[in-house]
Amino acid sequence: MSIPTPDPQSAPSVTDELVAANQEYADGFTDPGMDARPVRSVAVVACMDARLDLHRALGLELGDCHTIRNAGGVVTDDVIRSLTISQRALGTRSVVLIHHTNCGLLNLTEDFRHELELEVGQRPSWAVESFKDLDQDVRQSIERVRTSPFLQHRDDVRGFVFDVTTGLLREVAPA
Ligand SMILES: [Zn+2]
Repeated sequence: MSIPTPDPQSAPSVTDELVAANQEYADGFTDPGMDARPVRSVAVVACMDARLDLHRALGLELGDCHTIRNAGGVVTDDVIRSLTISQRALGTRSVVLIHHTNCGLLNLTEDFRHELELEVGQRPSWAVESFKDLDQDVRQSIERVRTSPFLQHRDDVRGFVFDVTTGLLREVAPA
């Protein structure tokens, strides 16, 4: 196997653009000398949605928090894995969960998984974790964090829905 050499005639791929942007970033970069432990001892679990700029939306600075993102901002086993490491190895105590309006998962059902299986001949080991009710899914996510035996800190867990049209967070009361 050989790595294809980029054709100088072809337009740069988006990855090429990102690598070029990194070059500029590194040119102006100075080592902030930070520790890996988040300064504000908080882990934020959020949807991967491209419209959600977590740091700006929450007034966070570099080094302040852990951000754990996936489709939907759902608390899956892998999110529990990251939260466990975040708390036990890197000292975070608070958990903030963020779903958002107009989420792509609102339009999916578990049929997605079934159709995928029919197409590729293999059933994915993961659930789609789609939802119809944002608030209910936030409450479920809060509950999954609060009942995880692996986490050290389960008292400061709050969940929100971010409105992609206003930029505002709305808190969801736990179950
Ligand atoms: Zn989303």
